[in-house]
Amino acid sequence: FQRLASGLKRSSDQITGGITSVFTKRKLDAATLDELEDVLLQADLGMDTTSAIVETLRRDRFNRDISGEDVRAVLSDEVGKALTPVARPLVIDTAHKPFVILMVGVNGSGKTTTIGKLAQKFAAEGRTVMLAAGDTFRAAAIEQLEIWGRRTGAPVVAKPAGSDASGLAFDAVTRARAEGKDVLIIDTAGRLQNRDELMSELEKIIRVIRKVDPTAPHAVLLTLDATTGQNALNQVEIFGKRAGVTGLVMTKLDGTARGGILVAIARRFGLPVHFIGVGEGVDDLQPFQASDFAAAIAG
Ligand code: GDP
Repeated sequence: FQRLASGLKRSSDQITGGITSVFTKRKLDAATLDELEDVLLQADLGMDTTSAIVETLRRDRFNRDISGEDVRAVLSDEVGKALTPVARPLVIDTAHKPFVILMVGVNGSGKTTTIGKLAQKFAAEGRTVMLAAGDTFRAAAIEQLEIWGRRTGAPVVAKPAGSDASGLAFDAVTRARAEGKDVLIIDTAGRLQNRDELMSELEKIIRVIRKVDPTAPHAVLLTLDATTGQNALNQVEIFGKRAGVTGLVMTKLDGTARGGILVAIARRFGLPVHFIGVGEGVDDLQPFQASDFAAAIAG
C-alpha cells in the first residue's frame, strides 16, 4: 500500500489540496459545492463520480459545518464504489496451454514494460512463459522484448523488423503449444497515426491465432498511460471493440496528478482493471485493488 500511496501522491495532493482550500472552516453552501465540483473535475474523476460526491454532500451536509476530512471520506467511498465492480484479477486458466495474452495499446503506453513485468510475475509463480515480439514495425520494440526475455528467462519468438505480425503470432502460438508453455504473451504494434491499418492488423492477428487455437486469445489487455488524461478514454473506445479488449492495465499513475481518469474509465466502460503501474520498478506493477486505490487517492 505504501508504494501505491506514494505512486498516487501527485493525484491525491492535487485533490486533497483542492479540498482543503475549499473547506477551511466553512459551512457547506452552494458556492463551496461548486468549487468542490471544479476540484474533482480537474482531477479527471469524470462527471458521474463528481456528481455522486457533490449530491451526497448536498443531501447529507448542506448548511452544516464540514471539514476536508469529511469530504475526503465521501470521496473515498464514492471512488471505491465506482471501482469495486471493475477490480478483477487476471485469472490464468490453466485449461489452456498456452494461455494466450494479446497486449495492445498505443506506442509509449507501457506495453513492453508491462509484458516484461508480467513475464517476471508469472515466472515467479512457477509458470513457463514465452514472449512474441509482435510489434514487428519497430526494431527497438523487438530488442526491448528480447532484453526482457533474457532477464526473465522467457524465450522470445521474433522476426526481423518489417515481417508480417500475424505470421509471427501464428508461429508463436504453434511453438508455445508444441513446447507446452503455460503462458504466451504477444506484443503488438501501437502506431495510432494509422488507426485503421492498425486495427485491421490486430483483427488479423486474432483471426490467425484462432487457426491454431479457436479459444485464443484468452485475454486481450489494453495498456493505458494515465498521463494522457482524457485521451485514455478515446483509446479504450478505439481499441475496445475492434481488438476485443477483455481487461485494462493503467500505467504511469505516478506521473500524473489526474489519476482520477481511472475512475472515469471504470464508470464509462465497465471493463475489468487488472493491474496498475505506479513506477518503473518491477514491484510497481500492482494487482488492482479498489479500496486501496480509493484510500490512496483520497489521501
Ligand atoms: P510501449 O511503447 O507501449 O511498449 O512502452 P514502454 O513499455 O516502452 O514504456 C514507455 C516508458 O514508460 C518507459 O520508459 C517505461 O519505463 C515507462 N513506464 C512504463 N510503465 C510505467 C509506470 O507505471 N510508471 C512510470 N513512471 N513509468 C513507466
